[in-house]
Amino acid sequence: MRRLRVGILDLVGNRPTPGLWNRLMKPNFASIMPQVVAVWSEQLGHDVTFVCVTGTEDVARELPSELDVLFIAAFTNAAQRAAAISRQYRADGTVTVIGGPHARCYPQDAARYFDYVLGFTDKALLSEVLRECAQHRPLGVILSARKQPPQLPGVRERWKFIEPTIAKAPAVKIVPMIGSLGCPYTCSFCIDSEVDYQPLACDQIQEDLRFLLRTVKRPRVGWHDPNFGIRFEETMAAIEEVVPPGAIDFAAESSLSILSEPHLVRLRKNGFKAILPGIESWYGMGGKSKTGAAIGRAKVDQVSEHVNRIQRYIPYVQTNFVLGLDSDEGEEPFQLTKLFVEKTPGAFPAYSLFSAFGQAAPLNLELQRAARVLPFPFHFLDNNQAMNVRPKNYSWSSLYDRIIDLRRHSFSPRAIARRFAANEGWLTRSLNFVRAVSTEGFGRVHHDTTIRRLLDSDRAVRRFFESETLAVPAYYAERVERDLGPLWEWLPAGALDHDPNAYLKSAAAAV
Ligand code: SF4
Repeated sequence: MRRLRVGILDLVGNRPTPGLWNRLMKPNFASIMPQVVAVWSEQLGHDVTFVCVTGTEDVARELPSELDVLFIAAFTNAAQRAAAISRQYRADGTVTVIGGPHARCYPQDAARYFDYVLGFTDKALLSEVLRECAQHRPLGVILSARKQPPQLPGVRERWKFIEPTIAKAPAVKIVPMIGSLGCPYTCSFCIDSEVDYQPLACDQIQEDLRFLLRTVKRPRVGWHDPNFGIRFEETMAAIEEVVPPGAIDFAAESSLSILSEPHLVRLRKNGFKAILPGIESWYGMGGKSKTGAAIGRAKVDQVSEHVNRIQRYIPYVQTNFVLGLDSDEGEEPFQLTKLFVEKTPGAFPAYSLFSAFGQAAPLNLELQRAARVLPFPFHFLDNNQAMNVRPKNYSWSSLYDRIIDLRRHSFSPRAIARRFAANEGWLTRSLNFVRAVSTEGFGRVHHDTTIRRLLDSDRAVRRFFESETLAVPAYYAERVERDLGPLWEWLPAGALDHDPNAYLKSAAAAV
């Protein structure tokens, strides 16, 4: 195989973000797969330049001027940034490849702007792409392995790509690790519900942890498992065998059903400092919350007690909610979440707006069939800047009124002060304070208030929300232009638009 000059970009976000929280934490949100592709490309004999774009990096300066192939990993909100970069490099003859969540959710659209679109990617598929390394234009080829790879390069092999990435974080540096792929739960909106649960080898986990203990003074590890601790005994035994209690701090996303008191005792003993359980809704998801048939107020009481118990063992707890789900109706779900915030003052409430990411989940087929998916530019699809599913039980105005009210309640000076008082340790307190007063708390209140105002004052916005037109309102187009900066000129024609029903059409064509 010809020795190729390979560039790899991990786009963390859709623009340089000025907020304090982003400046402090963004490098810690780097993905694992771009690092994996970098390792595999080197193993296949190629020259690799890897850049994790977390802020104001000048991509053109950081990558070599001549590349044979450029891989870009992106979530959907960075799709337009990725398409503009791809066009720039394709103009010089570079072959471009997109992978990551956007490629999996919107392959048909991504094929308009990249030579290759990769779904599940293993080393054999990567090798195939690098061996061919050909231009596919105007439409790229969509490729996918049958399933996720059985094993991934560990931290030691990825270290040369991890180290410069976390060096960009000024204070808290978190090393990304993974112990399992997919999830056995079937939350209908979740991309991981469609991926078979697959634990990775414990030997690899142990080798990674030993390496970190040798290499980093006081390591912090963020587990990227969609749902950490499904095989709790096995995973914890593997950690306990190699990490002296408290020598590494860990953070993980996990279900309430896993976080029983005996498990919490063990997690604390082993240095778990942050846990992010998903609650999602007061009217469903009882299995993963371990609340069985309890719904509404009864579920709030149970979950609040549970989360307060978790916080006696683990200092940092973030509770995840999805707003605007079809199971929600009227004022009550929002009042219940406010009640939860009152009863559980130490937990940081993270809100997502119900969104349908292309073909991420089977539920999206139903939503597309019902013509409920709106073609918001990808740039805004991050679960917060836009909700691309027309709500079933709310008008847009009434939903936004309630979301704003809930956010204001959750990030009021009183709630912030109560959170501060209920938290222990400077790190938990300062992270929660910064999150509340920057992009995530105050910033989202400001954004939602703007959208709510536009719904009343901007006819183009109102008509777009009500599906009376597919034309992207000027407000959104101008935001993309501002955020992309000089890259705006490279945005391919038509790239602000996408077909919101592409999944439905491709499913129908496949029958
Ligand atoms: S438990 Fe979490 S990771 Fe698993 S399917 Fe549900 S939302 Fe996805």
